Amino acid sequence: MPWITGWFNGRPQFGVNFPVRRIQCITHRLCQFCRQPLGRRIGIVVRPADISAGYVDEPGMHPECLDYALAVCPMLNGAMDRYRSQPPAAVAHLVALQASRAGQPAEAYDAWFITPSGYEIAYGADGSVLGLSLDVPVLMKRPVRTAAQPRLTDEQAALLRQVLDLESSTEGPITP
Ligand SMILES: [Zn+2]
Repeated sequence: MPWITGWFNGRPQFGVNFPVRRIQCITHRLCQFCRQPLGRRIGIVVRPADISAGYVDEPGMHPECLDYALAVCPMLNGAMDRYRSQPPAAVAHLVALQASRAGQPAEAYDAWFITPSGYEIAYGADGSVLGLSLDVPVLMKRPVRTAAQPRLTDEQAALLRQVLDLESSTEGPITP
């Protein structure tokens, strides 16, 4: 279980990080997975949106922890498109994700590897810790997954259509 993963009601919530642990990891150069200090090679998971933002909000990982995370994390290894349980929050998130991606190519993840000298914290205008800067020398970039459009359950698809219909009534038609 990744150290950074949040727990609510006695169950781990993958994709929901403890905010304090996230900041601790970033500022103290700890691995978000095993909590140990990062070494000479630091792995980060980067999406296209992160590149536009200029930083990743997730802390770094040991290369071996990153490999393990890729093997077991449903968000990273592509198993997330199943969504077996349907907590309202997850569905809402999925719908938001889908609506924002309508007509966009599927999102992909890359693993980037940097060194301690390229470890640079990105700060917001108010001094808050945003994450790790991507405007640094990168040793290696490795594609992790090409994210397919998630397969939706009938119920989720109906919900999504509702949202898209709502949008199309105000912003013009959205082609499927
Ligand atoms: Zn680690």
